[in-house]
Amino acid sequence: ALEARPIPFDNSYARLPPQFFVQQAPTPVAAPRLVKFNRALSGDLGLDADALERDGAAIFSGNTLLPGSQPIAMAYAGHQFGGFVPQLGDGRAILLGEVVDRNGKRRDIQLKGAGPTRFSRRGDGRAALGPVLREYIVSEAMHALDIPTTRALAAVTTGERVYREDVLPGAVFTRVAASHIRVGTFQFFAARSDTDSLRILADYVIHRHYPEIKDRKNRYLALLEAVSERQAALIARWLHVGFIHGVMNTDNMTISGETIDYGPCAFMDNYNPATVFSSIDQQGRYAYANQPGIGQWNIARLGETLLSLIDPSVDAAVDLANAVLKAYGERFQTPWLAGMRAKIGLATEEDGDLDLIQALLALMQQQEADFTLTFRRLAALAESEDKEMAFAASFKDPESTETWLARWRERLSRDPQAPTERARAMRSVNPAFIPRNHRIEQAIEAAVKEEDFSLFEALLAVLAKPYQDQPAFAPYAEPPQPAERVLQTFC
Ligand code: AMP
Ligand code: MG
Ligand code: MG
Repeated sequence: ALEARPIPFDNSYARLPPQFFVQQAPTPVAAPRLVKFNRALSGDLGLDADALERDGAAIFSGNTLLPGSQPIAMAYAGHQFGGFVPQLGDGRAILLGEVVDRNGKRRDIQLKGAGPTRFSRRGDGRAALGPVLREYIVSEAMHALDIPTTRALAAVTTGERVYREDVLPGAVFTRVAASHIRVGTFQFFAARSDTDSLRILADYVIHRHYPEIKDRKNRYLALLEAVSERQAALIARWLHVGFIHGVMNTDNMTISGETIDYGPCAFMDNYNPATVFSSIDQQGRYAYANQPGIGQWNIARLGETLLSLIDPSVDAAVDLANAVLKAYGERFQTPWLAGMRAKIGLATEEDGDLDLIQALLALMQQQEADFTLTFRRLAALAESEDKEMAFAASFKDPESTETWLARWRERLSRDPQAPTERARAMRSVNPAFIPRNHRIEQAIEAAVKEEDFSLFEALLAVLAKPYQDQPAFAPYAEPPQPAERVLQTFC
């Protein structure tokens, strides 16, 4: 059939009652230029890639609204660094609408940096080029790493300036998400004691994200369990690759279980559980190793919003929600441990495995070993004994690895995989390439200062295949030189 519309919108959220959003068109920009368009994703979404690429500057800046789009800014609240803000909302993001992708999955298409909305407060509604490129790179890298995430469809520069600590080139980012519903969306209505809207939201979410629970006896309790399970599993995946989100406020945690709102996020180089990159996270609330606990804290906040739906008796509802919270620890630990076993090459389970894994992590921390390289080189060592020097070289004192390696080999002797098979399995879970912070900063600097996007393009290319060796890109696997290290990330 002929499709006259380049994006076949079908906007279910805009059909919800008016208190869920405000209608808001993007504010046009002066001189939009399409700097990146994701043709592969466009194809997966069933969009007309040729039309979008041709008119991308106008479409992905918000200067042109396509037929079928119903632009809205979504209402939400949230706990920011532990303090509750009853109204946040899309202050610079505008949902253009939804499409049903080639797999029948409904997805949001949203512009970030498209101008002010009723929720902007003192913000300008705009985004700077650097953070737009960072979100593009990191979200696509996360997808390639096989971690649930929002996606990047396009980036445009606006030809306008934005005023932060510096004067910076403006940009608009086009994001694709399973939805943009957040823990904070539930908090928005709970803060207003609006139980009718909460029920509409919960039923909408169950229909859209968790249809398998719709006939459960207590479907709102089942919803809390389901979100808890997906978030715990997601955060386990973050830890497996050394990812630090940076701003795990409840308004930055999705109900779908996708990673969202890449701000001052980063991947760590040397392993240290206390690692923080965000310039605004002074207390380390969102440090690498705090993420699972913060996930549980956020799920507790979601549980609070659902109490009146879970049971008319407050005491009964609290007991039921508390049982879900208590199960969160196990819901995190199980996928985390399974993933860590795989990272060190174990296909079987023994009681001592957790201890073996923790001993390696402790050694890596003490010896300032690079997180990514350690596991990737352990895969090589699993295959050939002559790779021990290369493995040990990333530890400050290479000899410090001998005791652990002896334990590991002894454990492997009771694990049935052949060396080649084990190494292949290890390489499929231990990336060679992550979006290292210094590489991202170099790519941003070239784009911002020289309008040179070649480093950005090179990073995207190498990060599309993170589990392959790609010898031509070998330098991208390396940690930063001391002078290249980037310890702080700004958003
Ligand atoms: P964040 O923590 O960056 O995800 O955003 C927190 C809140 O601030 C959300 O309500 C955003 O929409 C809003 N916000 C962030 N940056 C801007 C901006 N430049 N203009 C208006 N609102 C913004
Ligand atoms: Mg926030
Ligand atoms: Mg946010």
